[in-house]
Amino acid sequence: MRQENLAKRVISGVERVSGHYSHQPRNAPPTRARINTYSMLPDIENLLKLQDTDKEIRRLQDEVAEFPKRVAVIEQKLAGTKAQLDKAQASVKADEAARRKYDTAISDLRGKISKYRDQSLDVKTNDQYKALLHEIQFAEKEIAANEDKILELMVNADARDKEVKAAQAELKAETAEIEKEKEEARQLTAKDEKLLAEWRAKRDQIRTGVNEDLLRHYERVSKFRGSGLSEVRDQKCMACRVMLRPQTYNEVRSGTQTIVCDSCQRILYFNPAEEMADLKPSTTRAKRHHPKIDAPQAWYYRAEFNGIGEVFLCLTTARGQSSRRVYDVHTGRLIGDILIREGDYRQAFPEDITGAMRLNGGWTENELDAFGTELPMVALDTLRADLDLARHEAATGSHVKPQAPVAPTEQAAS
Ligand SMILES: [Zn+2]
Repeated sequence: MRQENLAKRVISGVERVSGHYSHQPRNAPPTRARINTYSMLPDIENLLKLQDTDKEIRRLQDEVAEFPKRVAVIEQKLAGTKAQLDKAQASVKADEAARRKYDTAISDLRGKISKYRDQSLDVKTNDQYKALLHEIQFAEKEIAANEDKILELMVNADARDKEVKAAQAELKAETAEIEKEKEEARQLTAKDEKLLAEWRAKRDQIRTGVNEDLLRHYERVSKFRGSGLSEVRDQKCMACRVMLRPQTYNEVRSGTQTIVCDSCQRILYFNPAEEMADLKPSTTRAKRHHPKIDAPQAWYYRAEFNGIGEVFLCLTTARGQSSRRVYDVHTGRLIGDILIREGDYRQAFPEDITGAMRLNGGWTENELDAFGTELPMVALDTLRADLDLARHEAATGSHVKPQAPVAPTEQAAS
């Protein structure tokens, strides 16, 4: 009930505004020719632009936020090296103190011996003489023991010296490294901040072109779901994969009202170009390009992954190491950290491959890095499209079952 009210409120708001639009010149004429006669609502077009802008802003913000984390890691390492240096220096000091203690003990013992010798000149009995001699021998033994300890310290001193010097050198190198990192990050941050300001201005501009109620709805759903728009294809909401009722589907396709998905609340839109691609003759569809078995990069789909749900896995092998990236199928967001393991990805991640569906998709490591924490829409769409084909293939073998009758001409005629 609540959802319906919300949808109605959104729709009525849009209708008000679309009337208003017709009196204003727009960048693109509302009657712009499309692949077929469907048109997209100006609000939807603007929201799509807004979505791209929001994504870029998020990417830049993430990059800026990454900087203090990187510095913190190096600073932690630096603190560790500093502690090591302090410890080595404290050991040197302790050794020096011990050395002084032994020196003092030796000179005290020598004093005692000389005193005993003086006394021995005055002794009366043989027993007294023997007792003094015994004392002297005992002191001499003590001196020898202290001298041994001093020798030991001198041998250790070389090792201690090396420890201190190594720690000092490491500290110097790390300090230089952190300064360099900081400088690079400062420059990158300044560049990002400038870009952010530009993108934010662009976003503000786009926002003024969208109905207020719709905008509020878009932002609320984006906040909770990571995206506020969803394409409709094959009568499905592509974000949550829930089938739409035929009437809702037709309403979205007609492009005259704004409709939200009953299930995920995203604002639905229909891209005729995508649907036309799906409607190509079945012979084209059957020619699914099959991924190479020995490719250095492989994409997989898993319906269930560590309790997260549906994911795309990207496994890449380079220079004897393999990396694994996990992306949410619906949002394209990177889940967790990039995992690196030794060896070929088949050996490194066998548990991920088993039971997974192999997909087409090949991007360079640099491109993947540039994607950051979210696959761009174009990559996500490519993977989803291939997933649909692969599923279709799996379900039908090499034969392609005929498409459900979706007749664009009927819609166009109305
Ligand atoms: Zn949905």
